[in-house]
Amino acid sequence: MRRDLMTMELDLGDRQKDMGGLPAEVPDLIARGALFVVNHSGGKDSQAMYLLLRQHVPAAQLVIVHADLGPVEWAGAVEHITATTAGEPLHVCRARRTLLQMIEERGMFPSPQQRQCTSDLKRGPIERTIRAITRERQALGFEAWGLVVNCMGMRAQESPGRKKLTSFKHSASNSKAGREWYDWLPIHSWSEVEVFAAIAAAGQRPHVIYSLGMTRFSCCFCIMASEHDLRTAARLATERPGLLNDPDLYSKYVGLERATGQVMLMPKNGVRLSLDQVTGVPA
Ligand code: SF4
Repeated sequence: MRRDLMTMELDLGDRQKDMGGLPAEVPDLIARGALFVVNHSGGKDSQAMYLLLRQHVPAAQLVIVHADLGPVEWAGAVEHITATTAGEPLHVCRARRTLLQMIEERGMFPSPQQRQCTSDLKRGPIERTIRAITRERQALGFEAWGLVVNCMGMRAQESPGRKKLTSFKHSASNSKAGREWYDWLPIHSWSEVEVFAAIAAAGQRPHVIYSLGMTRFSCCFCIMASEHDLRTAARLATERPGLLNDPDLYSKYVGLERATGQVMLMPKNGVRLSLDQVTGVPA
């Protein structure tokens, strides 16, 4: 136990040193009055990223955007964001249809290779919201508000795909109509221990689902979740349904697998298992 605490203290020290190592472009963007948009899911990585940004970016240049996933996300995401931020403008955006509606309409689940769930439910609505914010601000005469730094909490440690991501880059596709847009992953190099240490150092706690065994936030039952998280989510859905926006969510996923004749998870060692087979929790 003592060794764990010492490790966290050491890691936090490294993290604080790392804070000085902002991308070379960021101090200039701050000085030019760029709008820094915090993509906040309500999860631990978003929370730690916000805390880091708050140390470097003036409050007037910070806005928070949350993509509300509705029935498929854990309850209390917006409340948690509000409780752990300092009153910066919070924009909550939603996709035209929920993930479950998307699966019903398409007759299939998204896959890690074709993750239109991420683009349809998160990236698309968030980028539309950022464009709307910049349009409104520019209409008020704030020229500098066309300058955007879109901050996301992906970390290299999470997956080989995320490890390959560039932590800071100009977005040519979004730099249109008077906008100059950059994408930044401020905590890309951080470990999970550093994330939790940053939250603790700020005197905050992550959302309650982490203390109940979940390692990831966002969709309660993610197509890319570990078996551990799926089992934990299924158990919580049964034992503490109030933690979910939709208390019947687990049954709905299992029902959709049966109705579509598909399973939501990729095969493991060539075997395709249904959600209830993976979790061992009857629906
Ligand atoms: S959390 Fe998982 S299922 Fe939900 S949108 Fe992201 S990748 Fe898709």
